[in-house]
Amino acid sequence: MKGQDIKVVFCGVGEAFDQDYPNTSILAIFLDKRIPVRILLDCGFTAAPSFWKMYSDPLELDGVWISHLHGDHFFGLPQLLIRLSEHGRQKDLHICGVKGIKEAVTWAMELAYPGKMTRLSFGIVFSEADSRQPFEICGIRARAVEIDHPQACLGVRFDFRGKSLFYTGDGRVPESARKVVHDCDLGIFETFSLDSSKHGHSNVEEAGAFAAAAGIRHVAAVHMQRAERKSNGQLVQARLQKKGVRGVLPEPGHVIVI
Ligand SMILES: [Zn+2]
Repeated sequence: MKGQDIKVVFCGVGEAFDQDYPNTSILAIFLDKRIPVRILLDCGFTAAPSFWKMYSDPLELDGVWISHLHGDHFFGLPQLLIRLSEHGRQKDLHICGVKGIKEAVTWAMELAYPGKMTRLSFGIVFSEADSRQPFEICGIRARAVEIDHPQACLGVRFDFRGKSLFYTGDGRVPESARKVVHDCDLGIFETFSLDSSKHGHSNVEEAGAFAAAAGIRHVAAVHMQRAERKSNGQLVQARLQKKGVRGVLPEPGHVIVI
């Protein structure tokens, strides 16, 4: 299966309040010979319905990575968890993310559907990622890097059978992260705009420059501000190409296999 070891499905690619594009949420499927491992990267307000549409058997989901505790990255979890329970899911779900992840998800569940958290048909295994050391999510090797964003945010690198995937979550990737994410096959970058600066966000120019310097060969630009996507979305690929990086501005349902 060389060349096809990680399948990436873009369930949502939008920013927080986009009426057309569901919140950025990506299903990473690690194609093991026996049983694939499926990890959903972020699950915001509008992401869960998109995940169900894009993936025929959501009960197979093994884990969820939450990059940070903004609503457009984790407020979809009550929907996701309760629907999985409605389907009678039995196996544990691993939820991994920033410090405070267990308390935040428990609180969100309690606000959305009081009392439901303790009555789910399956267990949840929470873990907090530590950027100082490697860790595993559902048996997949991972490293976290701190991202420059108003809310504490972790980017994540996965390594699997010689292939590597990097997802930034929201914000600008600091130069200090370059060593950890160096040489990834695919980088999924938050790019709020083409080239203008907005506090706590990245843009296509910066993401392209970082990727080129870090040897990341392929960039998917997500989370673009809704008006910016309409006016400048068609320029993204060429801008990334100018930096020497292969790029794409994916639509929901887009698939990349690395
Ligand atoms: Zn955010």
